Amino acid sequence: MGMKTIPIQRYMGCFLLLLGVAVACCAADAPASAPAAASAPVEAAVPESNSAGAPTTNPAGMAAGMRKYIAGQYVLYTDLSEDEAKAALDRLTAMGEMYRRFVPDLNGAEHGRMPVYLYRRFEDYRRSLGGDERPNAGRYDGLVLRAVLDAETFSLPGVWRVIQHEGWHQYSHRILQRIAPPPLWLEEGLAEYFGAAVWKDGTLQPGHVDAGAYVQRDKTIVLQPGRLQRIQTRIQAEQFRPLEKLATMKLDGWLRQTNALNHDQVWSFVHFLLHADDGQRRKALQSYLADVLHNPPKESKRLDLFRFYFGGDLHKLQEEYEAWWLAQPTPVAGEAVLPRDKNS
Ligand SMILES: [Zn+2]
Repeated sequence: MGMKTIPIQRYMGCFLLLLGVAVACCAADAPASAPAAASAPVEAAVPESNSAGAPTTNPAGMAAGMRKYIAGQYVLYTDLSEDEAKAALDRLTAMGEMYRRFVPDLNGAEHGRMPVYLYRRFEDYRRSLGGDERPNAGRYDGLVLRAVLDAETFSLPGVWRVIQHEGWHQYSHRILQRIAPPPLWLEEGLAEYFGAAVWKDGTLQPGHVDAGAYVQRDKTIVLQPGRLQRIQTRIQAEQFRPLEKLATMKLDGWLRQTNALNHDQVWSFVHFLLHADDGQRRKALQSYLADVLHNPPKESKRLDLFRFYFGGDLHKLQEEYEAWWLAQPTPVAGEAVLPRDKNS
C-alpha cells in the first residue's frame, strides 16, 4: 500500500515546557477552558455546528472543518468523521479517568476541561505548529494537546502512545504543577507509564509491557524484540544512571542522554515501583508524590526524601530493580506468535 510510517521516538521538549512555562500556563488555563465548561452538556458527544464550534482558545491552530465535541474532562476539536471523533472522545475520556484514578483532581470542576485538537491531515497539523519541519505525532504546548491521526504518516497505536504521554503532562500541568512541579524523573516516568497503556475492550489498561512478538520471516519464526528486551539490554550494558543521580536529576542531566534512553529508564523505574513485588511500593510512590508537591524539598534534601520513601540503601534498591527486569520472561514461541500488524 506504500504506507510510510515514522517511528514515534522523536517526541521531546514536553519537559522543557513543563519546567519553563508553568506560570504562564496556569494563568492561561482558566479563560481557555471556561467557555467549554460553561456551555456544553457533559456526557453527550454532540458536535456543534461548524460556525458555532469555532474555537475561543487558539484560532490560529485550527484546521478547516474542525468541529467541537465535549465529554468528561475534555473538549475536543477535530476534523475527523463523526464516528471517528466519538471513538477518539471515548478514548480521551478513559485517558482522563486513568490519570484521575492515579491522582484525583481535587478541584476538577474549577479547572475546566482540557483542550485537545486532533487533526486528520499531517499538513494541517504541521501548519498548526508553525510549520515545524519534522514534528512528532503529538505535542502539548502548555495549553492545548495537539496530535495527528494520519495513518499515512504515523502508526496510529504510536500516535495514541504519544497522546497518552502528552496527555499526562497536560493533566499534571493542570492538577499538580499549580502546586509544585513533580521531580523530573517522576513526571516523565508517569508520562511514559500512561503512554504505554493499551486500549482493550473499551478500556484503557495501564501497566502494559511490550515483551516482543514472534513474526514470520521467510520460513522461520523469529522474535521481534519489544521494550522489555531493550530494557534488559540497557541494564546489562549499564547504560542507566545510578538511582541517586536519577532521583535528583534536573534538565541539564536529562539532556546528557538521548531521549530514548531517558524515557526507557524513567519508564522502567516507575513501572517497577508500581508493579514489582505485587505493587508493594505503589503506596510509597503516591505518598512521595504528595509529599514533594505539598512540601517541596530543598535541593539538598531531595535525595533524603527519596530515600525516606524508597529505602535508605539505594544500591540495594537498584539491584532489586535490575534483577526484577532481568527476570521478566520473554514470551514463548507458540503463545504469542502472530504476524504482527504493521501498525502495532
Ligand atoms: Zn514528556
